[in-house]
Order: sequence, then C-alpha cells, then structure tokens
Amino acid sequence: MDATPADTRHNRWERNFNIAGMAAMHFGAVIALWMGARPIDLAICFGLYFIRMFAITGGYHRYFSHRGYKTSRAFQFLLALIGTTATQKGPLWWAAVHRRHHRESDTVRDVHSPVQRGFWWSHMGWIIANEHEEYDPSEVKDLYKYPELRWLDRYHVIPVLVLLGTCTAVAGLRGLCWWYCVSTVLLMHGTFTINSLSHVWGHRRFNTSDDSRNNPILALVTLGEGWHNNHHRYMQTANQGFYWWQVDIAYYIIKALSFVGITRELRLPPQRILDEGRLGNPAPFVKVEGDKPAVAKPAREPRSVLPTIPQPADAE
Ligand SMILES: [Zn+2]
Ligand SMILES: [Zn+2]
Repeated sequence: MDATPADTRHNRWERNFNIAGMAAMHFGAVIALWMGARPIDLAICFGLYFIRMFAITGGYHRYFSHRGYKTSRAFQFLLALIGTTATQKGPLWWAAVHRRHHRESDTVRDVHSPVQRGFWWSHMGWIIANEHEEYDPSEVKDLYKYPELRWLDRYHVIPVLVLLGTCTAVAGLRGLCWWYCVSTVLLMHGTFTINSLSHVWGHRRFNTSDDSRNNPILALVTLGEGWHNNHHRYMQTANQGFYWWQVDIAYYIIKALSFVGITRELRLPPQRILDEGRLGNPAPFVKVEGDKPAVAKPAREPRSVLPTIPQPADAE
C-alpha cells in the first residue's frame, strides 16, 4: 500500500510517541488511585487542574484562538507557558486547528467532528493520530510574529517535562502520579469533552451550521466552555456564558484580571445576539455529507450562520 503524505516515518514516530505518552499518563493515574491520596495531594491535583484549565479556556481558546480580549505581551507569554504544561501541544498549533474547527464545523473536513467520525475520534483519536500534527502558519499570522510563542510551540514538550520533573522531585512517585498524571488526565478529558460531548449532548439555543450544544455540567468542568452552542454562534468573545445564569468561571477570572489592568477590551456578544438567543427555537442540525458547512434555515429571522474568521488583535 502506498504511503500517504501524512504517513511518513517522522509522523509515525510522532503518533507512537503520542500513544505512549497518553498510555503512560493514564497508567500513572491508575497507580495513583491504587496508592491512595493525602489531602495535600488532592489539593495540589485540584490546583494544577484549575490553573491549567484556565490557561486552556481563558488562554489557548478565548485569547489565542479568538482574541476575545487584550493583554500585555508578558501575560500573553505566561498564558502560553502554563497552557503548554497542560500537555495539549503548543499555542500556535492549538489555535490553528481550532480556527479550522470553527470554519469547517461538523463537515467532513472538520478535524474532530463526532457527527462525521464518531465519538472517540472527536474525543481523543484526532489528537493521537498523525493526520493533524502539522498546522498552517497562515491560520495564525497574528500569533506567528511573536518569536517566543513560536519557540514555545516548537518545544512544547519542555514545559511538560519541567512540571513533571518538579512534581516528582518534590513528592516522588506520589507527586508524579497524583500531582501530574491525575490532574493532567482529568484536564485533558475535560477539555476533550468540548470537541466530543459538546457537539452531541445538551441544548441548542442558537441556530448554527453545526451540531454544537450548551451543557451546564460541561460548563462547570471546563470553567465555562460548555456553553458551546453560544460560542459557535458568536465566537470572538471573552465570555461564553452569555446570560447571567450561565456560569462561566473563566470569564469571571478574565473580568477580575481587568480590574487590576492585566486584561482589557473584553469583547462581549452584542444585544442582537442576546435577543436572538432569548427567542430559542433554533432549526435542527442537518448532517452534512459534503465538505461545505450546512446553512441551516433560520428559525426567526434571516441572517448568516457561517462563522467569521477571528480578527487579529495585537498584544502590547
Ligand atoms: Zn472556539
Ligand atoms: Zn465546536
């Protein structure tokens, strides 16, 4: 059988590395459960989960992928650095594949659609396989100009090894298994539910060209990302819980940081989007067989349902 362009020796090595790393982390989490935990282990595990989930949700996603707010170049780097320790590759790769997900949501070209390729592919198969190891720098021109981000993206394994090594040096096997493995495994699966469950399980408030859903349980687990149907309707915002009752912890943190000048120019959904969501009654999603996004029939008023490309906004 002929090798496809993606099936090179290098990419096969990458895929095997991904599989081995993922298996080792899960094995470490099982060992942790067998060892039992002290209160300090649970506290540090939760702390590492929380801060890194914020770096993914508030950093990789809302800042790097969608430019939902502005910040300084130093805080931008800090978000990228902590995000990298989440073991979900670098910020440029993450933002590039995520922007592509929005452009091609739930079509055959989507990188992780449960509608097209099943639950397990959308949950973790796509990140383990070697089909999406590379990204197109033109997708992230606004980020690619920062050399420190390019460095971090290229050597994204280094911060992971530093965190893993520090946990082990401080608390031995318990530090490795509870502090690093359990917190990272929970963090990964929490994040991955947004690609898998959030396109399957929940309520559709908005009429979008994909099968995205709102789910309050996933919103709690991911600090706000579970309002995924809101997000697919209007993506360039610092918040994803559009209404006061939609709990969005990452937004509360971004807002709190704005009070001390760390973040600024937070983007929020316009009134017309909020009014549209209050109407409810979106058209049901129709699975697309081709590679073009479906244009669902508007439920109430004519409008474009195609996602827009995020506007670059520089850090200063
Ligand atoms: Zn997004
Ligand atoms: Zn999505």
